[in-house]
Amino acid sequence: MKYTPIIGLEVHIEQNTNSKMFCGCSAEHFLVKANTHVCPVCLGLPGALPYANEKAIENTIKLGLAFTCRIAEFSKFDRKHYFYPDLPKSYQISQYDLPFCAEGTFNSIRIRRIHLEEDTAKLQHTTVDGKKVSLVDFNRSGVPLIEMVTEPDFHDAESVDVFLKEVQMVVRYLGISTADMEKGSMRLEANISVAPGELPITELPSYKVELKNINSFRFLKKALEAEIKRQTEALERGERLIQETRGFDEKTGKTISQRVKEEASDYRYFPEPDLPPIVIEKTDIEAIRHNMPEFPAAKRARFAEEYQLNNEFIEVLVSEKSKADYFEEGVELGKKVGLSPKFIANALVNLKLSENMDVAAFIKKLYEETKVAYATHEETERAIHAVLVANEDAVAKYKNGKVEIVGFLIGQTQKELKGKGDPKLLPQLITSQLQKK
Ligand code: ZN
Ligand code: MN
Repeated sequence: MKYTPIIGLEVHIEQNTNSKMFCGCSAEHFLVKANTHVCPVCLGLPGALPYANEKAIENTIKLGLAFTCRIAEFSKFDRKHYFYPDLPKSYQISQYDLPFCAEGTFNSIRIRRIHLEEDTAKLQHTTVDGKKVSLVDFNRSGVPLIEMVTEPDFHDAESVDVFLKEVQMVVRYLGISTADMEKGSMRLEANISVAPGELPITELPSYKVELKNINSFRFLKKALEAEIKRQTEALERGERLIQETRGFDEKTGKTISQRVKEEASDYRYFPEPDLPPIVIEKTDIEAIRHNMPEFPAAKRARFAEEYQLNNEFIEVLVSEKSKADYFEEGVELGKKVGLSPKFIANALVNLKLSENMDVAAFIKKLYEETKVAYATHEETERAIHAVLVANEDAVAKYKNGKVEIVGFLIGQTQKELKGKGDPKLLPQLITSQLQKK
């Protein structure tokens, strides 16, 4: 029997706006003294009124457009109720039935929705005066948070990994978040089940396992692989799998049960009465679309076509927008002094030259290095002459029509020049000396 993994993703991306989602507090909370960026709104005090951060909405629309989502011209915020110490109002302002963005795609993956919500406070489990306590830091409470939900369109851990890295890259290209996993600016959750049979799977399994609290791409990939194995083996033994939340144990490389869900949670969603619905004009959406950067996917295609670079180089260069821009500025300057895009790409990727260096200075340095690197015309001619004298039999073979021998003579000349021969010049200079013989 063959089994097919069915995987969907939920990605939370914390925005890097100056202020929080519904108040004027600074949204910075990393390495900030606890509870210093707070006010009645983000502390959930009675009577405090929220107002929406326009920039955070614009950022969400940007991400939606990057993943070809439909942007809602009429949208609203909703209250999502649950009780937990990190949630001062006992509800989170989120979006329910009218998210800002829906129905996007990336390659073969469908994006169900991208909505905007507020982050929760941060709990710190520690010991004070010998007692175990949980402290709450509200600096993170109310920071704009984007949630992206995909359809269960992944069938292996590798394509999940590829997709998530692309999301991180796009987010960074847009400059809307640092998307750093270690800082929790990008948080991943996956739901996974295994269906008997092969693709296309028409009926989804009746259970799904949620993988939570995984803080790196590498661990998510490992957790998914472990989970596919665990579920497949259980099904092969004829066991029934249950709906539950599991975490990943880095030491054993296995997933462990954290919580068994008895029933679907009831968040009692209802429209946020303190915020008016959001109307987004078509012209505003088009203006945002118009100002989008060129994304990694488009850049990859263009770099291959325009500069004939190999995939390895392209991946390194497009990994960051600043790197790609630096490279292209270098190409423009390099043109004037005869440095090819490939040569510049190679220098950037392999020599790991500092990008802190001004582009013009970098190209000048490269140009000077190429000049000193190659032997002079005279030195080259002399070396060729010596090689031809020392290899009379090769010269004779050439005279008898064995032209491939030139390759051997190039190698000998390079040896003579200690590798400093200009590879573009050598064949032509050797052939012309041979013809004079
Ligand atoms: Zn506040
Ligand atoms: Mn959420």
